[in-house]
Amino acid sequence: MSLGTVIVTGASRGIGAATAIGAARRGYDVLVNFAGNRGAAQTVVGAVEEAGAKAVAVQADVSRPEDVKRIFEAADAMAPLVGLVNNAGIVAPAMRVDEMDVERIERILAVNVTGTMLCAIEAVKRMSTRHGGKGGAIVNLSSAAAKLGAPSTYVDYAAAKGAIDSFTVGLALEVAGEGIRVNAVRPGIIATDIHAAGGDPDRAHRIASSLPIPRAGTAEEVANAILWLLSEEASYSTGTILAVTGGRAIAP
Ligand code: NAP
Repeated sequence: MSLGTVIVTGASRGIGAATAIGAARRGYDVLVNFAGNRGAAQTVVGAVEEAGAKAVAVQADVSRPEDVKRIFEAADAMAPLVGLVNNAGIVAPAMRVDEMDVERIERILAVNVTGTMLCAIEAVKRMSTRHGGKGGAIVNLSSAAAKLGAPSTYVDYAAAKGAIDSFTVGLALEVAGEGIRVNAVRPGIIATDIHAAGGDPDRAHRIASSLPIPRAGTAEEVANAILWLLSEEASYSTGTILAVTGGRAIAP
């Protein structure tokens, strides 16, 4: 029997895809959101179904309120919503802050920050006991960049993930008495396509050898942390940010 539905944004590739498949193996049905890569999303849907769970793929840009509404309307037709993983995230090509323009900055903030907040709003409206819901859990994707600042590469992205940290703590406190736990995972260097999007496909493996655990993390290793925070095993954890950084020291 299904444990309920989990929405995973940006679930067609990388950490989101691993989270969607891991969620299915743990007994959840999964809404697989993607931006443009329908073929990859359908592959994830197939893997979820192979694990014995239900899956629906929904194309939507999380930065657009009307698209976010469509994600949640599709989820309303599935088993009751018990979780949201705010995973969709982007970087832009590496550059210094004094080379950035307003279009880039607005897009980075819109997808990484506004998208997370818009999805959280819809999830709280459905899961909060204040609104007649039965509770649930939200996991946001932060980044080690939020603490390291990502100089000369993605300071805009790092600042966006800093906003995710504050949002996680604030929302957690707001809904702690309403049956919803809100936590974040802070990945370090994980081997996914995101580094190619930043113009440096080998970044993960190049930096990895300098880490205490001298390799890049895998999408599955991050997914395991997300899925633990989502689960009842984390029933007394809220407002926390769990580092999955291979031991890289991150200031609190
Ligand atoms: P990825 O491999 O680049 O995959 C990104 C996913 O997000 C894809 O499924 C993509 O869909 C989707 N997406 C992009 N823009 C979207 C939008 N506007 N609306 C909805 N979906 C959108 O990324 P990843 O490395 O797995 O990263 C996942 C999360 O972890 C992000 O929040 C990222 O910031 C965070 N993170 C990653 C690392 C790392 O080293 N990889 C480190 C720290 C934090 P399409 O396939 O349709 O394009």
